[in-house]
Amino acid sequence: MERGEVAMTHIDKTKPEIPSTEEEGFMQYFEDHKKVYPKTVYGKVRTLKWLVLGLCLSVYYALPWVRWDRGPGQPNQALLLDIYDRRFYIFNLEFWPQDIYYLTGLLIMAALGLFLVTSLFGRIWCGFACPQTVWTDLFMLVERLIEGDRNERMRRDQQKTTLDTVWRKGLKHIIWIGIAFWTGGAWIMYYLDAPTIVGRFWHGQAGSAVYGFTFLFTATTYLLAGWAREQVCTYMCPWPRFQSAMLDEQSFIVTYRSWRGETRGHLKAQKNNTSGIQYGDCIDCGGCITACPTGVDIREGPQLPCIGCGLCIDACDMAMKKVGRPTGLIAWDTLERQAAKANGLHLPTHFFRARTIIYFAAMSVAMTIMVIALTNRPLVNLSVLQDRAPLFVRIADGSIRNGYTIKITNKTHEEAVFHLGLAGLDDATMALSDRHDDRLRDLHLSVGPDQVGSFRILLMAPDHGSSTTFDFALRNETTNEHTSYHAVFLGPGSAASERHNASEGVH
Ligand code: SF4
Ligand code: SF4
Repeated sequence: MERGEVAMTHIDKTKPEIPSTEEEGFMQYFEDHKKVYPKTVYGKVRTLKWLVLGLCLSVYYALPWVRWDRGPGQPNQALLLDIYDRRFYIFNLEFWPQDIYYLTGLLIMAALGLFLVTSLFGRIWCGFACPQTVWTDLFMLVERLIEGDRNERMRRDQQKTTLDTVWRKGLKHIIWIGIAFWTGGAWIMYYLDAPTIVGRFWHGQAGSAVYGFTFLFTATTYLLAGWAREQVCTYMCPWPRFQSAMLDEQSFIVTYRSWRGETRGHLKAQKNNTSGIQYGDCIDCGGCITACPTGVDIREGPQLPCIGCGLCIDACDMAMKKVGRPTGLIAWDTLERQAAKANGLHLPTHFFRARTIIYFAAMSVAMTIMVIALTNRPLVNLSVLQDRAPLFVRIADGSIRNGYTIKITNKTHEEAVFHLGLAGLDDATMALSDRHDDRLRDLHLSVGPDQVGSFRILLMAPDHGSSTTFDFALRNETTNEHTSYHAVFLGPGSAASERHNASEGVH
């Protein structure tokens, strides 16, 4: 009898099952969650995963403690996302809220990089470096050390609760919560000076937001890595849903070499083969399934819950070594090469394909733009807001006055004096609103280090009738850095003032 025929004898496909209630009919579309008990495996992939896990966790936990000298009065944390003072410090770089588009550029680059890696090597990010995978792996390690490997854990879950089960599970949850707390606490340290906030935290002086967020991140780490595990990848994460758009037949993914493994059969059946079946190398030991952290049978082909971790490769290699057969029955390969090998052909690997070239080119362009923009980043920023009510004022000498609020951002760490002049509007004069009698062609404005200076400026010019465009020209008198802002001077005949008058009912 062939595989599959057994199951068919129990199901009469000609008679559809009729659910007795509406609720039952609805619920038959849902399967109860089956707890996954991954078995320990050893091999190259597992070693690589431990290395990546160690690296990711070391960087995550240690980075807030790395110091970086930025000079007196400046924070000395290498990576600090200072939300209170609205500054991001990344080693030598300092980002202001006005620099938000660099973050956009960084996200675009990261997305394109992920697209490129996925189109080349499948879900390697999910399997190795995604935080969900890293912390789940760490939590599973703790579980394994305390509760034993797969069979022992399954036995404990099925048997009656004993003192042994209680203390083991209790200890496991205490350690999980400890790791989750450490993880949540480390996240807070990216936003506040690490040594300061740790001291305040333990002395009860940290503020409710810090305690609240630490609790929130502790709880989410504990729940996602300890309880939800593979369900996050299978049901919650959107990435598996659209990553298939990046994959093609030439992407390297974890594949079962069915041309070599089939027809599968238990070793005993293979040894006592009297039926003439042409058995392949797969001894149907189930090692690949029991090792899988998401409970997938990779022999059924690529599937959405498969995170590409490659642990089934190690599991199968262990099985193959045990029975003295060549390893690599499950391996990273392309579907195209697998299909060719099934027909006795050998195809080369195509890393350079239209989609990988496009992703690489787009990423290179984004990176080049980012590098150019970062190296030419201005240390001064000028923004101008024109008064809207009133749009203009006619003063005693018959000339027209417009009001502007000027904001100068001094991104240097020293106090700076800025020269503000006018380019265009040759017959105009300026004055600070609190010294409106001092009419000048240019002003000298002082802004403190790392600060935004706000000035209200009055601009007076003869009545030209309509609106006139001009530039506010700003220059740092120490560094000579220039910037300018294109502005409009509004008079009684300008379209804006006509509209304003119409809306106000002025004739
Ligand atoms: S099938 Fe293999 S590669 Fe995919 S998740 Fe399971 S163990 Fe990892
Ligand atoms: S581990 Fe290898 S031999 Fe065992 S069932 Fe999976 S594919 Fe077959």
